[in-house]
Amino acid sequence: MQRNQVGWNQANALPSRPCFLGSVLQPLLYTVRTYQDLPGLFCFCQLCWYLLIDDEKKIAACVDPAEAHLVLAKAKEENVEIVAVLTTHHHYDHAGGNAEMAKQVPGIKIFGGRIDKVAACTDPLDHGNKFTIGSIEVLALHTPGHTKGSICYFCCVPGKEKEGLVFTGDTLFVAGCGRMFESTPEEFHHSLVTVLGALPPETQVYCGHEYTVKNLQFATAVDGGNETLRQMIDWAQEQKVQRKFTVPSTMKNEWLINPFLRSGDDQMRSICPGCSPVEVFATLRKKKDSF
Ligand SMILES: [Zn+2]
Repeated sequence: MQRNQVGWNQANALPSRPCFLGSVLQPLLYTVRTYQDLPGLFCFCQLCWYLLIDDEKKIAACVDPAEAHLVLAKAKEENVEIVAVLTTHHHYDHAGGNAEMAKQVPGIKIFGGRIDKVAACTDPLDHGNKFTIGSIEVLALHTPGHTKGSICYFCCVPGKEKEGLVFTGDTLFVAGCGRMFESTPEEFHHSLVTVLGALPPETQVYCGHEYTVKNLQFATAVDGGNETLRQMIDWAQEQKVQRKFTVPSTMKNEWLINPFLRSGDDQMRSICPGCSPVEVFATLRKKKDSF
């Protein structure tokens, strides 16, 4: 398991990225730092958490800080001030550090879904709410499915939506989606296909766990004729061997390889002949639960 892999800059890895992962990053005014797993959190869940940094103003938001002291140490290393926490959902491995962050950083804003019972939440969010972290505009997307109040955060420099990114927590993973704990297949399908699906295809996807290889194995089992998938699984396995991340993906890539997004495609219908896309989605989710 990767532990506390520090400060790996996604931009450094781009030249070696296969083209099916989407367009190359344009120079941005901000940086995303990706970290994986936490020394004190024994979940063996390949957790991903992030610092979203406004490079000019030297302020940052932390996405899903399960362990506050580590987040604050990384912020110090990066020489940035954390002004906000973006919580994707209330589960402990994502929101477990919120109360401590509130204690350690007076005045910090802690965002989370209004109906998600997020620990220490100061700024409850509804679908469509907007706020800023320095020069970065953040749009809250209510995406029920994994939990009832899950929020995904679409972030971009105003007017540059095509260069945006989305933090998806346990709603959308690379090549998969989270378990359906608190919602219906209709709601989850709508969150993935209609809400996240409306984002520009170039949008970079930063998810809550690095489950990519396992997800790709499942995707291959249900979508065996998909050539892009076949290429990607080789690449993802190599990334794992080299202890590198497979995030970010892009929405365009997910449309090509993610069986849950593709539940309306003819190729996926064969797993549930005559079914609607939502029924195909529900069948896929059930199959994945026991995969
Ligand atoms: Zn979760």
